[in-house]
Amino acid sequence: MSEESLNITEIWTRTTAEIRGKVSDSDYSSWFSRLRFDGEKNGCVTLNVPSAFFRDGFESKYRTLVESTLTEISGRPMTVKLVIKKDTDTSRTAPAAAAPARDTADRSKDQKPVREKKNSSDCQLNPAYTFDSFVPGENSNFAYSAAMAIAKNPGSVYNPCLLYGGVGLGKTHLLQSIGNYIQQNSNIKIMYVTTENFTNDFIQSINDKTQSQFQKKYRKVSVLLMDDIQFLQKKEGIQSELFNTFNDLYDTGRQIVFTSDRPVEELRDISDRLRSRFERGLCIDIQPPDYETRIAILKAKCAEKNFTISSDVLEYIAKNISSNVRALESCITKLIAYSTLLNKDISLETAKEQLKQIINSNNDTSGITIDFIIRSTAAYFNVSPFDIKGKSRGQSIIIPRQIAMYLCRTLTDYSTNEIASEFGGKNHTTVIYYVQKVSSLIQAEDPDTMNTVTKLTNLIKQESKRN
Ligand code: ADP
Ligand code: MG
Repeated sequence: MSEESLNITEIWTRTTAEIRGKVSDSDYSSWFSRLRFDGEKNGCVTLNVPSAFFRDGFESKYRTLVESTLTEISGRPMTVKLVIKKDTDTSRTAPAAAAPARDTADRSKDQKPVREKKNSSDCQLNPAYTFDSFVPGENSNFAYSAAMAIAKNPGSVYNPCLLYGGVGLGKTHLLQSIGNYIQQNSNIKIMYVTTENFTNDFIQSINDKTQSQFQKKYRKVSVLLMDDIQFLQKKEGIQSELFNTFNDLYDTGRQIVFTSDRPVEELRDISDRLRSRFERGLCIDIQPPDYETRIAILKAKCAEKNFTISSDVLEYIAKNISSNVRALESCITKLIAYSTLLNKDISLETAKEQLKQIINSNNDTSGITIDFIIRSTAAYFNVSPFDIKGKSRGQSIIIPRQIAMYLCRTLTDYSTNEIASEFGGKNHTTVIYYVQKVSSLIQAEDPDTMNTVTKLTNLIKQESKRN
C-alpha cells in the first residue's frame, strides 16, 4: 500500500494510528504517548525519547514494528533513530500524543487521554521492566521471589537487600520491577537511581550549593532503589553521603534495595562502615541462566514481540550464548528486524549468518591473559596465585592448578610452552597432562568439574570485558 504522495508528517500520523490498533491501550500510552516525532532525513525518522531507559525499552519492544509500519505506509525502506531529549516526556501533562511534535494541531481528536500516574516519583522507570516480563529460572528464583516480596511489602522484609551478579543478567530489570509494581499498586514514594546519577546529582549540589535540597530529595522517599553500587568504589565523598542517606532511611524503616555486579566482599575501596551497611541485609546472587531457562527467555521475548522463531534457531542461540540475557535479546531483535524489513523467513542458515557478529563478540575471549586466569581461579578457590604457580602438590592446590591450566588452553591461544612458563616454569608436558585430565573429567560429565569450569569461564569472560 505504497502512497508516494504522502508527506512525512502524514506518514507518521498514519503509522501511529496503525500501531494504535495493534498494541494495548496501556502499552500505547506508556510508550507512544511519550515519543516525539522530530523529522526525517534520507529515510531515517528521528524520534525524541525522554530517557536512556525508555530508549532501550522502546528499541527492543517496538523499533521493528515502527520501522516495518513506516516502510509499509511510505512504500520505501525507512529506519528509526531514537534521540534522548529530556523534556520529551509529556505524559504527565499532555494528552496522548504520538502525533508529530511540529504538527500538534493535526492531532486526531479521538486519541484517548493518558491514564494519570498513580503517584509522582522523581524517577524514570522503564515500563517494560516488570515481574510479568521477567522469566525466572533456577539461576534467579531466589532474587525474583525476594524482589516480589519487597514490592508487596516494602520496608518490612529483607531490608536492605542487595542483588548482585554479572552483566546482562536482569539486575536492573528486577530492581525496576519493584519500582513499577509499587507505582502501580500504591502511592508510596519511590526513587530509582543509578549510582552514576546519584553521584552526578551530589556533585552538582555541591557546585550549586544546594546540598540540603539534594539530601531532602533522597531522604523523603519510602523506597530507594539504587543500581550498580560498584561505581561507588574509590569515591569517598559519595560513600559518606550514601552512608548518611542510608542511615536516615533505614532508621525510619524505609526500604533500600541495591544492585552490584559483584558480591560485597569483592567491592574494593569501600569504607568499612558502608560495607557493613550493605552486609546488614539480604544479599542474593543472580547466576547466568541454564539452557532450559535460556530457551524459556527466548520464547518469552518472541511472544512479547508477537513473532515466531523456529525451535532449531532458538536452540542454536541458546547453545551459543550462555552468560548474558541482553545478548539473547539482541539476537531476537536482529532476526525480527531482518525478517520484517526484508520479508524473509528465518532459517537456521540465515540465523547463523545474521547472528555471527553478536555470537562472536559474546564469546570474544581476546584480552584474557594467563595471569588473569590464574588470579581469577585462585580467588575462586580461595588460594593464592603464588601457590597455583608454585610446586606444592597438595590436593587443595592441584585441582585449582589443573583447572587454571585447562582454562588457559580453552580461553586463550597461548601454546602449552607459554602456559608452562607462566605457571612457574613447568614442563609443557605437565600442562598437556593436566589439561587432558580436566577434559576427560568433563567428558565423563563429572558434576564438580563441569560446574567449576562453567562458572569460572563465565566469570572470567565477564570480568575481562570490564577490565
Ligand atoms: P543487568 O542490570 O544485570 O546488567 P538488565 O536488567 O539490564 O541486566 O538485563 C539486560 C536485558 O535482559 C534487559 O533487557 C532485561 O529485560 C533482559 N533480561 C534479563 N534477565 C531476564 C529474564 N530473566 N527474563 C526476561 N528478560 C530478562
Ligand atoms: Mg544493570
